Amino acid sequence: MNTLLLAITALALVVLVALLLRPVQEERDAQPEEDERISPLLRGINYLLSDEPDRALQEMVQVARLRSEAADVYMALGEMFRSRGEIGRAVRIHQNLLARPDLPQSLHLQAHVALAIDFQTGGLLDRALVQYQKALDIESDHAVALEASLRIREQSSEWLLAEDLLSRLERVRDESYGLHRAYLFAEVARQHFEQGDMDAAAIDAARALELDAACAPARMVEIDLSLNKQDLDAAEAGVKALWQQAREHFPLVIPALLQHDLFYKEHITALLRELWLDSHDAELILAWIEALAEFRSVSEAQSLCDELAFAPHSLRESLRLHAVLGAGDDVHTGFARQWRKTAKNYGCEQCGVEVVEVRWQCPQCHSWGTLHPKVEEKL
Ligand SMILES: [Zn+2]
Repeated sequence: MNTLLLAITALALVVLVALLLRPVQEERDAQPEEDERISPLLRGINYLLSDEPDRALQEMVQVARLRSEAADVYMALGEMFRSRGEIGRAVRIHQNLLARPDLPQSLHLQAHVALAIDFQTGGLLDRALVQYQKALDIESDHAVALEASLRIREQSSEWLLAEDLLSRLERVRDESYGLHRAYLFAEVARQHFEQGDMDAAAIDAARALELDAACAPARMVEIDLSLNKQDLDAAEAGVKALWQQAREHFPLVIPALLQHDLFYKEHITALLRELWLDSHDAELILAWIEALAEFRSVSEAQSLCDELAFAPHSLRESLRLHAVLGAGDDVHTGFARQWRKTAKNYGCEQCGVEVVEVRWQCPQCHSWGTLHPKVEEKL
């Protein structure tokens, strides 16, 4: 309700300003109808003050009807309908505005952007892109349109188109988005890898790592490419680089390493043991134990735990271990497994959102590389 009240207050102010700023000539001509025009506005403000936003909105619609020449009032109404979730009405208002031959040139851009936001809010991404493009045709460095188009391209996994928009945004804002670009190239590399185009995947993974050596998804493509070529030494070098550059995401690569039998036996077992003895990193050994239980056997996972004498030091570690090694018919194992399936394992440093699976781009604030593994469980 607060947002709605704010929106209506904003609209009332827009209308009031529109009335106050009206040219003097118009003022003279309009004098006899002044009361008729002002009274719905005053009634609207009155409803607003008595906390009746729906009736206030009705009066605003009346103001817009009586002042059909006031495009700004329509713009504000469109915003309001969108904020109430009435996307269809917002779209109609903005489309009608754009169809008006008397719409001032200065408002075309604003109306295209507003219509684009309506479509984007309603999930009609293609139509939103068309409207953002029309805004960019009018003003090629319109940062809002560029940023929104970038978001849509990312949402649709069109990484190269996203990268092009990112470059334009960099020029407009005179800022460097190298880390963001690294993640886009890592996504392109992963796409090429999955489509079987290994050469292209290698080029884009290298580009991403050149921009940011700590870009974990790019490093993981690099490791997959080496394994695909059976170049086990290169794969081991990639695994070591991941450990050095992006340790918090290192556990993510472990399941893939276990699935390559020769590589696991001859390279990875000794390496993981050495890394564990050096660091006593609980995330590493827990991921290793979990992967063993999943891809080999629970008894192998148990032996590793015994051999390396791993003991959990927090509630989270204890629950993870119990979910894997607890007795199957034990009620506590059941709880631990249930927790493991639904536990939020990653949190965003920017907006605080928490998610179960890793994401390179935050689903809430859309920043890249801001989700980190949670180490502690809240009590
Ligand atoms: Zn976020």
